[in-house]
Amino acid sequence: MNCRHCHAPLEHVFLDLGFAPPSNAYLNATDLNKPELYYPLKLYVCEQCWLVQTEDYAAAEQLFDRDYAYFSSVSQSWLRHAADYCQTIRERLALDADSLVVEVAANDGYLLKNFVAAGIPCLGIEPTASTAATAEALGIPILREFFGDALAHRLADQGRRADLIVGNNVYAHVPDINDFTAGLKTALKPAGTITLEFPHLLRLIESAQFDTVYHEHYSYLSLQTVSRIFERAGLRIWDVEELATHGGSLRVYGCHAEHGREPTAAVAQVLTHERDFGLADLAVYRAFQPRADRIKNDLLAFLIEQRRLGRRVAAYGAAAKGNTLLNYAGVKPDLLAYVCDAAPSKQGKFLPGSHIPILPPTALTERQPDILLILPWNIRAEIVADYRKIRDWGGQFAVAVPELSVF
Ligand SMILES: [Zn+2]
Repeated sequence: MNCRHCHAPLEHVFLDLGFAPPSNAYLNATDLNKPELYYPLKLYVCEQCWLVQTEDYAAAEQLFDRDYAYFSSVSQSWLRHAADYCQTIRERLALDADSLVVEVAANDGYLLKNFVAAGIPCLGIEPTASTAATAEALGIPILREFFGDALAHRLADQGRRADLIVGNNVYAHVPDINDFTAGLKTALKPAGTITLEFPHLLRLIESAQFDTVYHEHYSYLSLQTVSRIFERAGLRIWDVEELATHGGSLRVYGCHAEHGREPTAAVAQVLTHERDFGLADLAVYRAFQPRADRIKNDLLAFLIEQRRLGRRVAAYGAAAKGNTLLNYAGVKPDLLAYVCDAAPSKQGKFLPGSHIPILPPTALTERQPDILLILPWNIRAEIVADYRKIRDWGGQFAVAVPELSVF
């Protein structure tokens, strides 16, 4: 296999998590006696451009084209994040009624509704029918397609190039990152700005977030690599911010390479931090697998010990992260009886691979587990606050990443 960006042969495995089913392939009771498809879950790092990327395998795209919809508006903290961004960027770029804002992966309109409210014309691009319909009901025009250079050319031909193109948590999920980036260039006005948010590879490595790896998450990005990909497409980064979202993300600001805008000091600072951390050196990448293995082994030992002691363990949060961790550790319902999740669309289903049942949070009060293992560690504080009642019956919380802790 060659690098998806620079086409150099990929020789260095960054992380091998064995085989796993797609992380969002939740099962119904009737699926449990059917075969389940497992795909290799292996990441390579490219020694030329340092893009960390999933291994390619046949027939992946049909598999991930499921009718699974994640509604961004479910999370209050993410809605606040979107509203704050809208306010700041409007002022920074002086956007008004003559501007056009395009959001790639507009989801349910969680972000663009803020621009609509401010009287700024916008266009969402969202291929998932159910979320697109929700956005349209908010008065947001939606193109129900995947974004790439072909679509960008159609927009440009129609005179719909953008003053601002936004992509939140989509850049790491596109299979063809070069075509996507070329599309950003094509669809951008000469003085326009692109902002992209994606989880920062530096934070993934630093905090051993190996459970954020799943098949649909094709690229694991640093500023050094995104700068290269932008440059090859005739774009460049002029600002960057470090965000707390998703365990540590970057928000990059891009423009046409020929635009005269001065880069901010933050760009050089983050690049220096990445270099000092070792992101341009194979050693950092090679040291990652043993850390993932240790987290896996510690969790498994803990669950077996609880079982021997007769203590009952439940989990909270039927998210992609949890599936990666539980499948890598080979945890099944004998060690972890059930997982609670507030999303009604998941309740009554089963986690892919582990077949652990998903119950509504009311099950916690009924069953009173001794340990509640928090799977989405990025919203740990929120979960501890919401379910502190487990302490009433002597229950404790636990997390497995970045290291096992019980509290
Ligand atoms: Zn490469």
